[in-house]
Amino acid sequence: MTDSSSELSEERAAVADACRRLGGEGLLIGTAGNVSVRVGERVAITATGAVLAALTPDQVTVVDLDGKVVAGALRPTSELDLHLGVYHRYGTGAVVHTHAPMATALSCVLDELPCIHYQLLSLGGTVRVAPYATFGTPELAESVLTALYGRSAALMANHGALTHAPTLDKAVEHALLLEWACGVYQRAAALGPPRVLDEQQQLAVIEAAVARDYGTTHPVTPVQEGTR
Ligand SMILES: [Zn+2]
Repeated sequence: MTDSSSELSEERAAVADACRRLGGEGLLIGTAGNVSVRVGERVAITATGAVLAALTPDQVTVVDLDGKVVAGALRPTSELDLHLGVYHRYGTGAVVHTHAPMATALSCVLDELPCIHYQLLSLGGTVRVAPYATFGTPELAESVLTALYGRSAALMANHGALTHAPTLDKAVEHALLLEWACGVYQRAAALGPPRVLDEQQQLAVIEAAVARDYGTTHPVTPVQEGTR
């Protein structure tokens, strides 16, 4: 049941690129973690047992939204149902799950990662820690889906982290940002109780970001005659 339109060759290559990048950044270690991207009714997702930092496109499997394999020779990740759950519930475009060191460390201790830095607002603010359940189970998927409500990221207790976004690049960026923020929290907490941005401060950041179109580059505006 494989036809060329189901192959998602570009997306499989992009998933492999994303894994190698996240591996290079130390977020994907060995075979732990999984990455997927959705195109319509199809999902390109990493195969179970593949070494992610050296992933090749043929180690990315294509499934439909019910999890049926439509292209690729390898069995998809054991967290397939978790990825599909995120697509079904939040209609997103890409999912990154890692056992990144800082995120995993905090997931063993915290009930949530508080909004200690304004950049966390691009993930929705405070990042919840989904209660622990065995990997690959519907209980874990439900726990994480609940924690993701209104957020692009969740920590998974004693397990790792998950981020999602409309595009694969953005989901990767979110994973890197979350790991960075977890590192900041860990260092800050070693010095004393970290201050947390209150609701007012968070709202002010969102207003400023909207007003300035923060996070994108802007060309220098030529100085107009008569305005200097
Ligand atoms: Zn995992």
